[in-house]
Amino acid sequence: MEQTLVVLKPDAILRGLTGELLGRFERAGLKLVAAKMVQVDKGLAEKHYPADREEWLKLLGHKTLDNYKELKKDTKAEMGTDDPLKLGHMVRGWLLDYISSGPVFAAVLEGPHAVELVRKITGHTLPFKADPGTIRGDYSFDSSHLANTGKRAIKNLIHASGNLEEAKYEIPLWFSKEEIAKYERSEEKAMK
Ligand code: GDP
Ligand code: MG
Repeated sequence: MEQTLVVLKPDAILRGLTGELLGRFERAGLKLVAAKMVQVDKGLAEKHYPADREEWLKLLGHKTLDNYKELKKDTKAEMGTDDPLKLGHMVRGWLLDYISSGPVFAAVLEGPHAVELVRKITGHTLPFKADPGTIRGDYSFDSSHLANTGKRAIKNLIHASGNLEEAKYEIPLWFSKEEIAKYERSEEKAMK
């Protein structure tokens, strides 16, 4: 049994997709154990996207580099640097603005293999590469290039913990223990 964090980002809320997106997880049998609307302040944003997660920042930078390479564009000329860590920090800055630009809806989902299952339903980071049927594939066409040239984060509607370690770090940032409910869904009985 695992718990994982999802955050419906401001674009999902502004587009009125909260119920639709949450419903997709519930339909798959994932149990909603915590949920609330949040206006993210700088403190929470900084902790959610920590400046000292070098591996993740480098990975973000590499994603940006790969994308420019694919487009045969000069990253250094367009972004001012081709250093993956510096690029990662740049994207992180845009993420802090994005997550705190409007209300978000945070939730904890529980179930067997919840982390992987939620990532599967969420889809690829880059919406134009996300499969149809996934949240990002069905509701967005944004790309790294569009976002980078606009000097903003990719609008992909939702954050979902990337792995169990990330989930264990993120959930307590958003919810206290008392806010997490315990109950049994009817499917749990049916699957026994
Ligand atoms: P996720 O776990 O699938 O959300 O992806 P990451 O953890 O790698 O990235 C976090 C967020 O940063 C993504 O959801 C996007 O909003 C944004 N992002 C990722 N890669 C890029 C990029 O190359 N350019 C820009 N502008 N934003 C990006
Ligand atoms: Mg991630």
